[in-house]
Amino acid sequence: MPVFDAIVVGAGPAGAAAARGLAAGGAHVCLLERARFPRSKPCGGGITTRALSRFPWLEAALPRIPTHWVSRLYLEAGDGNHVVLTSERPAVVLVRRIEFDELLARLAVEAGAELCEGAWVSQVDAGDDRVTVRTRDGRQFTGRYLVAADGVNGVVTRRLGLHQGWDGEAVALDMMEEAPDALLRATDPATLWVAYGHGGADGYGYVFPKQGHVNVGIGCLLSCFREQVRMPPYEFQSGFVGHLVAQGVLQGVSSREHFTPCHIPVGGPIERTAAGRVLVAGDAGGFVNAYTAEGIYYAMVTGDLAAGAILAAFRAGAPDGGRAARHYVRAWKREIGTELRDARLIQKYLFRDSRRIANVVGGAGHHRDLAATIIAYAMGTISYRDARRRVLLQFPRTALRLAKIAVFG
Ligand SMILES: Cc1cc2nc3c(=O)[nH]c(=O)nc-3n(C[C@H](O)[C@H](O)[C@H](O)COP(=O)(O)OP(=O)(O)OC[C@H]3O[C@@H](n4cnc5c(N)ncnc54)[C@H](O)[C@@H]3O)c2cc1C
Repeated sequence: MPVFDAIVVGAGPAGAAAARGLAAGGAHVCLLERARFPRSKPCGGGITTRALSRFPWLEAALPRIPTHWVSRLYLEAGDGNHVVLTSERPAVVLVRRIEFDELLARLAVEAGAELCEGAWVSQVDAGDDRVTVRTRDGRQFTGRYLVAADGVNGVVTRRLGLHQGWDGEAVALDMMEEAPDALLRATDPATLWVAYGHGGADGYGYVFPKQGHVNVGIGCLLSCFREQVRMPPYEFQSGFVGHLVAQGVLQGVSSREHFTPCHIPVGGPIERTAAGRVLVAGDAGGFVNAYTAEGIYYAMVTGDLAAGAILAAFRAGAPDGGRAARHYVRAWKREIGTELRDARLIQKYLFRDSRRIANVVGGAGHHRDLAATIIAYAMGTISYRDARRRVLLQFPRTALRLAKIAVFG
């Protein structure tokens, strides 16, 4: 059996970006995926268009799959007040993960990665100079590095003692249905529809129109679902669909067969995102925006940075496996560390008191320059650092409250 330069476990956005980056950099890489493509993944499939400036190769490949571009966001607070934000160019592209993930995996293969489908990793041994994984069907793969990109319930971090699992405050339960237009469709497919506080739960609901499909989801912290929602997930979600049909936001009916509840890690990155020759990317490492639950972008960024760190270690001829790990942690902290930390603070701040969300919705309506800043950041035309500076200058008192949460919790 060959010793690969790197093994990547999981071919979602994180793993595919890692494998593509490694292969494009000349590494011999094996991408292990338990499923077979095309495979489904419960997800809204909304990608902020900054992903396209970050990954020009993705922009070039997107025409290979159906996409839906939107430049209007409807935002509703728990008290019913709402605001509509509009951008000059589309700020979000919507995809179906069954198509998007297969595209990413194909791009990794086209760059030179070996994709091994039906390879369900169950055991991992990390040594000083190599890492070995074993699959449920008894196959064994060895590499000099390993990227753990096996998602929110990934086994690699647990087997290696890097993470013990999420508690109810660190994971959201997102109850979503992705239905064909023939069954359910958005009345206004040109708009992303997001609302907070439906059904008495401190969470969010959304309608994401796609080409030929619609995604309708409702989610909240798992702890909040256990405390506040007194019904099974599908009953809760289909009640939400019924409510939106009555309101005229949707047309059609909910169907159980298209419904999947799934977890999203929203507690911020795990303590140990790299150790020795193992680097953790995407949901497996908790790389999700805790406030918006956006994860595809961060999965791709961390996968790409993991690839870069491993390639840099090879170039430096580093015999010490820890070099790539240190490089990786520095790199993700530099690129996305501040925004992930702020997102966690914003999540805690807003969901502590529903009036605060109402204030934000009202604020976005009154302060058009604030809305313009958020849209520019989503599109990648200004950096997070600039967007943050502009918002803090405009709202110094809120900034002070967030700082207090950061210090005192
Ligand atoms: C309902 C819902 C809606 C969401 N909506 C959005 C949205 O609109 N926009 C957005 O940006 N984010 C959204 N997210 C978050 C987003 O889906 C994730 O952050 C993103 O998929 C993370 O990518 P990943 O590659 O880390 O993990 P995944 O996409 O979960 O990929 C992990 C891969 O690893 C494979 N795998 C797992 N275990 C093993 C194993 N043992 N061996 C081999 N392979 C394995 C899986 O089959 C899978 O292919 C949503 C999430 C949910 C649940």
